[in-house]
Amino acid sequence: MRLHEYQSKSLFTKYGIPIPNGRIASSAQEVKQICEELGGKVVIKSQVLVGGRGKAGGIRLAKSPLEAEAFAEQILAMEVKGIPVRKVLVDEAVSIDKEIYLSIANDRNSQKPILMASSAGGVDIEETAVKNPEKIIKRTVDPLIGLREYQLRDIAISIDLDRKFWKIFGEIISAVWRLYVDCDATIVEINPLVITADDRVIALDAKIVLDDNSLFRHPDLAEMRDLDAEDPAEIEGRKFGVVFIKLDGNIGCLVNGAGLAMATMDIIKLLGGEPANFLDIGGGASSEKVAAAFRIILADTKVKAILINVFGGITRCDEVARGILEAMKKVKPKIPVIVRLVGTNKEEGMKMLEGTNLITADSLFTAAKLAIENAQGVSI
Ligand code: GDP
Ligand code: MN
Repeated sequence: MRLHEYQSKSLFTKYGIPIPNGRIASSAQEVKQICEELGGKVVIKSQVLVGGRGKAGGIRLAKSPLEAEAFAEQILAMEVKGIPVRKVLVDEAVSIDKEIYLSIANDRNSQKPILMASSAGGVDIEETAVKNPEKIIKRTVDPLIGLREYQLRDIAISIDLDRKFWKIFGEIISAVWRLYVDCDATIVEINPLVITADDRVIALDAKIVLDDNSLFRHPDLAEMRDLDAEDPAEIEGRKFGVVFIKLDGNIGCLVNGAGLAMATMDIIKLLGGEPANFLDIGGGASSEKVAAAFRIILADTKVKAILINVFGGITRCDEVARGILEAMKKVKPKIPVIVRLVGTNKEEGMKMLEGTNLITADSLFTAAKLAIENAQGVSI
């Protein structure tokens, strides 16, 4: 779950990371007033859950309340990378001397948190990462030990930071680390962390991504989820305990268990097909759950066939078959549905599906082949 910049900045404040004065607004009128309160020069920042807002025109520097109002009008009416802007953050403008990049993120390769820093922060950091990767320093952090004093100094030296900023820079990194650990974040990024003309160090931007699987222990953070900004199908899925991730293909997949769901997608790809989604219905297979999964899959009009692949363990295959049949009555999909059941009470389950308009298969291989043929209208 990704937080908005203004939400991330409120967490920064809690952890003592300096941010500019600012407030959130949803109308140009409010922006004008906030600008007056903040002294007349502000940055108006679209609050959308994508990066690169600056380059996309979603961030404007206004030099007067009237200008702020006009820019806010424009930004609130625009889309940034296809996402409509509903709110803007109005921050007191600061004059920038230097832009630093700083982040802590999960690193799969080292299987550790990784700290990245660069003196070439700002909107071109992605380009720097490709063209001048040596300008971004990377240090893994032992999760049990955390960041040590010498590491903080090493990072400061590596990005050529003036000695007078070492203390505050070290404090900011330590705060980022604490936030990352406490909140079960997968990314905490400040880009840019600026040194101002009057020698202050301030986090001008903030990006935090939280681990969805840990939200149960952070109800206060879970509440920050912005449903407006998320894919409606994924929200619907979450309501029923269904994990759904949309992909680009034409074969809808309805599977129990994340591993089996991935294996199903692999087999489809192996045989030359394209899965339309990842979907794990989790434990149980009530008709409500299967129906919800059907609706989510069918919302994508590109889907031309659905492949149901269920391993009956504690949830027996006959229960699954009943769930599927009842869900079929509720949703009435107009495209072919291929079912493969295996595990406890497989025979009973398959028997229940006989004589219906469901296409059954004995093996995953056959089921995937049938799904591809039905989706493409040709045999393979
Ligand atoms: P992003 O493009 O989505 O990463 O948005 P940022 O919040 O990082 O803003 C993009 C760029 O706008 C920054 O790198 C700064 O160069 C510039 N910017 C943001 N706030 C200010 C400000 O208060 N003063 C000035 N002069 N520039 C700013
Ligand atoms: Mn940024």
